[in-house]
Parts: sequence; C-alpha cells; structure tokens
Amino acid sequence: MHLYSEDDLVPISALQHILFCERQFALIHIEQFWEENCFTAEGRVLHERVDVEHHESRRLFRQEYGMAVRSLERGLIGKCDLVELYLTSEKKIAEAVPVEFKRGRNKEEDFDRVQLCAQAVCLEEMFNVPVAAGQLYYLQEHRRTTVNIDGPLRAKTMELIARIWQIQASGITPPALYENKKCDRCSLLEGCMPKSAGAGGKRVDRFVLSQIRAAREECGRWVDTL
Ligand code: SF4
Repeated sequence: MHLYSEDDLVPISALQHILFCERQFALIHIEQFWEENCFTAEGRVLHERVDVEHHESRRLFRQEYGMAVRSLERGLIGKCDLVELYLTSEKKIAEAVPVEFKRGRNKEEDFDRVQLCAQAVCLEEMFNVPVAAGQLYYLQEHRRTTVNIDGPLRAKTMELIARIWQIQASGITPPALYENKKCDRCSLLEGCMPKSAGAGGKRVDRFVLSQIRAAREECGRWVDTL
C-alpha cells in the first residue's frame, strides 16, 4: 500500500476548498495564497478558541479537544475541534466520534460533512476502529447534529481526495469559471479575477494582493475584538 510521507500531507481544509471551487483549492494550496474575509476570520477566531489542546475524562469516556489527526494512506493532516473516545474496560479505544464546531447554521452543501468524514478516516487509521458517525455543532442552532459517515459520504470524500492529488501532481491552477452565487462570496474574488485574468487560468498578481490585504486590515481588527 502506498503511504504518503509526513512532508507531503495536505490539510483536511483543502477538501472544503476543492468542493467549493477547484481554482480556489489551487490558489490556496498550490500558489500558497490566502485571503481572509470577515467570515473566514470569524471562523478562525472560533477555531482558535476551541483549538487549545486539553482533555477531560471520566472512567470509560474521554474528550480530547484540539486533537491532531492524520492519515498517511490518504495523505491528510488536520486537527479535530473535539474527539470523544469511548473506552473498553481494558481502557482500549472502542469508539471515536469527531465533533466540529461551526459558525452559522447547518448547510445544504456537504462542506462540513466532508471535513468530518476526512477526520473520521484519519481516526480510523490512527486508532484502528471504525468511525460510524461524527457530530456538527452550529453556534446559531446551539445543538449537535449527528452525521453518519456512510458509503455515499465516504465515496464523495475519496473522490475529492483523488482530485486533490491529481491537481497537486499537475501543478496547474484550473481556470476560473465565474458563477456569481459562488464567486461573490469567495474570499479570493479580488485576487482571482474570475471575469478577466482568472478566466485564462493565470496565477494571481502578488502586488494586487498586497493592496487587497492592506484594505482588509480593518476587517481583521474588527474580528479580533470578538
Ligand atoms: S472567485 Fe470564483 S473562480 Fe475564483 S476562486 Fe473564488 S469561487 Fe473560484
């Protein structure tokens, strides 16, 4: 079986990016460009709050916050907001349940479910136990939603992982296909320029991006006060 090396692992967040837009994935993970908008910054602040590694335990149950996970088989690395571990009487791990904290509400799109599935795959490899379900906690709903890590979700996640490695291997940023519903809420809109330069698949202009970054400092300052 092929195993990826530690140096080649791709962050689990890449799955959400590639599901949203292949060009966005390539801009972030191949061209190393990241633009933060108010929504991503708010999400970052939320995750920084829960990413503090600590754990709580009862006799046969443990909660691990900010647990680092990885899969050498799939080439993924990431961090779970929370993993709940159920132990056998011999204190071996019998079941693992990843839990992700999200801003907003449950979404129609699979972004969060795919992320959870990738975490489940990592936990399965790390602990050698099946992970049948995970949970999403949406701040605006104040409750957990159980997500079954079933066949269709696994198939979709594996397809995305395969596409990640395909684009990584080619090293080519896909051209932009402007879709107003998608592009207008994309944090990379100004750098991508999907109606002009990006449509030809050009790489982003670093000078333009530095100007955009400066203009967005105000947004970052606002979020950091949350
Ligand atoms: S602006 Fe549109 S085409 Fe460009 S990365 Fe974002 S979603 Fe993709």
